[in-house]
Amino acid sequence: MKNRPYILLTPGPLTTSDTVREAMLRDWCTWDEDYNSLVQDLRARLLAIAGGDTAGYTSVLMQGSGSFVVESVIGSVIPRDGKLLVVSNGAYGDRMETMARMLGIDLLTYRTADTQVPDPQKIRNLLADDPAVTHVAAVHVETTTGILNPVAGIASAAKEAGKVLIIDSMSGFGGVSMDVPALKADFVVSSANKCIQGTPGFGFVIARTSELEKSKGRARSHALDLYDQWHSMEKGRGKWRFTSPTHIVRAFYQALLELEQEGGVAAREKRYRENHRILKEGMAALGFTTVIPEPLQSHIITSFYPPQAAGYDFKRFYQNLKDRGFVIYPGKLTEAETFRIGNIGDIFPDDMRRLLVAVEASMYWNSRSSKQEEA
Ligand SMILES: *Cc1c(COP(=O)(O)O)cnc(C)c1O
Repeated sequence: MKNRPYILLTPGPLTTSDTVREAMLRDWCTWDEDYNSLVQDLRARLLAIAGGDTAGYTSVLMQGSGSFVVESVIGSVIPRDGKLLVVSNGAYGDRMETMARMLGIDLLTYRTADTQVPDPQKIRNLLADDPAVTHVAAVHVETTTGILNPVAGIASAAKEAGKVLIIDSMSGFGGVSMDVPALKADFVVSSANKCIQGTPGFGFVIARTSELEKSKGRARSHALDLYDQWHSMEKGRGKWRFTSPTHIVRAFYQALLELEQEGGVAAREKRYRENHRILKEGMAALGFTTVIPEPLQSHIITSFYPPQAAGYDFKRFYQNLKDRGFVIYPGKLTEAETFRIGNIGDIFPDDMRRLLVAVEASMYWNSRSSKQEEA
């Protein structure tokens, strides 16, 4: 593997293939037909993996990291007299709440503990008690912990009550099977650098066309106006309003081809599940415990409590692993010290096996060196 001093177990950015990175080695003109037709092809391919029958849906690309795209949806689709229910059990749900608050959107929040999933019945009750709510926003895989939220239950609670549903499926889309039309979701957001295994710089929205059309003139930001962006892409057949991240878009196109070559979302999900199984079993054998109990744990990213080993220090553990070719994530929980290991990206079961050897060596090195320091 070229240009890969270590693999990233940090979604994301995550580890990409050589061919995805190589796809960035030429320049494209942002308004030339060559590039714009590639954008159109890419938009169609995204729709094709969003579900079985995507008639009535469209896709929009938006510059920025995933959060910019979430903010473009929240800021663009809720009318001035609308109200948003944010369902949160982690940092990304909380981020949507912050966005809505800063945009001056009327807001109701349903927050559960980071280690618990939201209860669809509670959502039904909240919606029944507050008929002013027009939109519901929830996170699919809460990357804060790796917990998998019951997206089907949340969706039916919102849709039965006739609400517009926004799903942040940033770290789920492409790696967790999901049928957007079957869920009746209205806006599903993800980004280039998660399960489709591209590089960071833009995100995308799978949108119900009729809801997007209603969003004309609603945006609270010009640069993040989702309707206007979509309208420009439709009218200009692949034209972005402002400078587009051309190299990253081209790399993402390659990543989409590689997803298809792998066998589509189902095959990718299978590989991620296998990566996760090896990680989970191996870490348990080394004495690590997970933060999220098994039935709620996703196959995307896993939070672990630190080892009981004397002298454990995250910074050193991190550096030891990095020296051995693996970069992991610190935890994102406020109550407890944890660390996270992602298993998405261009990584395979053998990488996870090598990781486990490195984890064991890093712990040993760690406890031995701390004993030496004591002596
Ligand atoms: C990655 C991610 C985001 C977006 O984060 P950025 O740093 O802005 O790319 C949003 N929600 C979830 C659940 C994520 O995993």
